[in-house]
Amino acid sequence: IAAPAASAAESSWWPLYKNPYLPVQLRVGDLMDRMSLDDKIGQMIQSERGAVTPQQAAELRLGSILSGGGSAPTPNTPESWANMYDGYQRAATATPLGIPIIYGVDAVHGHNNVYGATVFPHNVGLGAAHDPRMVERIGAATAKEVAATGLDWNFAPCLCVARDDRWGRTYESFGELPGDASANTTVINGLQGRSLNQRTSVLATAKHYVGDGGTTGGDDQGNTEISEQELRRVHLPPFREAVRRGAGSVMISYSSWNGAKMHAHRYLITDVLKKELRFSGIVVSDWEGVDKIDGQQGFTPEEVRQSVTAGIDLFMVPQNAATFIKYLRAAVDSGQVPMSRIDDANRRILTKKFELGLFERPYTDRSLLPSVGSTEHRALAREAVGKSQVLLKNDGVLPLKKSGRIFVAGKNADDMGNQAGGWTISWQGASGPTIPGTTILEGIRQVGGASAKVDYDREADGIDGGYDAAVVVVGEKPYAEMFGDRPDSLALDAEDQATLAKVKASGVPFVVVTVSGRQLDITKELPGWNALVAAWLPGSEGAGVADVLFGDRKPTGKLTFTWAADFGQHPINAGDGKKALFPYGFGLTYPRR
Ligand code: BGC
Repeated sequence: IAAPAASAAESSWWPLYKNPYLPVQLRVGDLMDRMSLDDKIGQMIQSERGAVTPQQAAELRLGSILSGGGSAPTPNTPESWANMYDGYQRAATATPLGIPIIYGVDAVHGHNNVYGATVFPHNVGLGAAHDPRMVERIGAATAKEVAATGLDWNFAPCLCVARDDRWGRTYESFGELPGDASANTTVINGLQGRSLNQRTSVLATAKHYVGDGGTTGGDDQGNTEISEQELRRVHLPPFREAVRRGAGSVMISYSSWNGAKMHAHRYLITDVLKKELRFSGIVVSDWEGVDKIDGQQGFTPEEVRQSVTAGIDLFMVPQNAATFIKYLRAAVDSGQVPMSRIDDANRRILTKKFELGLFERPYTDRSLLPSVGSTEHRALAREAVGKSQVLLKNDGVLPLKKSGRIFVAGKNADDMGNQAGGWTISWQGASGPTIPGTTILEGIRQVGGASAKVDYDREADGIDGGYDAAVVVVGEKPYAEMFGDRPDSLALDAEDQATLAKVKASGVPFVVVTVSGRQLDITKELPGWNALVAAWLPGSEGAGVADVLFGDRKPTGKLTFTWAADFGQHPINAGDGKKALFPYGFGLTYPRR
């Protein structure tokens, strides 16, 4: 008896791994049975889009592509991101096994590489907001914008517990205590949604495992010199929580633990993360993390062997995919890397690809495009900005009255790029009108309304005594990695000092707003200021700062960092007995009227 002819849809479910109704593990097993060693090694590599064309990526059977910081298609529009993504996916799915790629990006405060996306406050501000449910909503909004451009995977959240504010990546930390990052792992639920298979879900990455925020002196990519007990007490808990919440991937830290590079740390990756914490997702290296194991440029066969056997599954080797393949192939052929390790890596990677529904829906769902920078997401970002403000001093000048004359000054008052910080369009970020949005000055004009008379001069040259109040917005300029490290001081720069001096000389009562990725050294100046608000790095919605200045929203933010009384106190953390300027948890609000 002849079987009924299979319909077109049914026949496309053969082989087994293409059948969406079968359990994922069965599909993974079926697919892996069909893969050659080269297919499997290819899956373990992630290249930078600028380094491989879709065709080359497909020929090398690469498992993943990323856009590193600032790596955007031209023009940088959501549509061209989607086109770029679909191009890689078309080439990948045209290979004999048709395994889709998984595409990753650093959407660390919204989909920040994409022009027009909503840019949320950096983690330092979100930590101060103490609102994990809101952070979950931010995760969901970010995922929607990322998914709208086709991308599948977000290298966020950073769960670093920054213990020394001299570290230039302190702004990526929710706070100095493990509970700050742990509480905000809710962002993972937002990013990944109820199920990875939803069109608006993206894979989250808990990073950087482990101890990135504990390096001596706050050195970026430095050495975390602490006991295992301390590592487990301070730096491990957020990862435990992230794994409990089902984070799909974990990124390894550039840093070392007591002199041993994390990228070659078998005990912490395989024994602790994979076995003890039962992490079943993808362990991804950091950008060229393998190259840095021996401290020399480029990767060697030995570094490849070490990091694969340590337990890394997917290698962010932006360039040189072909060399990596050659080395890993030789290591497997010679028995230095067991086949079971390659299979473990592939099982983890492919499981996530199936769970994300990539085999069924490899291409961008363009109906999501309008969510990029949507009014709804911008409103959420404004709420987040408002909730992240920490009022540190107020002699009564705040809240500002909407009826008076207000003078605004300072280099960060009207600078989108500065208020967005690093990881915004470009890797390190940049000053100036880099993204659409509302600067703090524009926010003050908007929220102040028609009855407030707002004047602005960046350097405060036009100030006279006839104002009711002044707002001086000072602080840092953008940096993402490396450039913010080991500063000689965290004092205000010469321009800020000069602007503040002019405002002070005018006799107008004034509030200082700091836009910065971390605390600043202001102990000497503070007595001369009428009020101080830490605004952190608010992102695209400067009106959220104005909401608090005018009292439309009461300040509720509380410090998640101990604010040093002088630079020499660093590292300073809650419970260490040092006399701080503002203790951990400090934050004022407005009196009831
Ligand atoms: C950073 C990571 C980031 C990666 C990819 C690295 O330099 O340390 O946090 O995910 O680049 O852009």
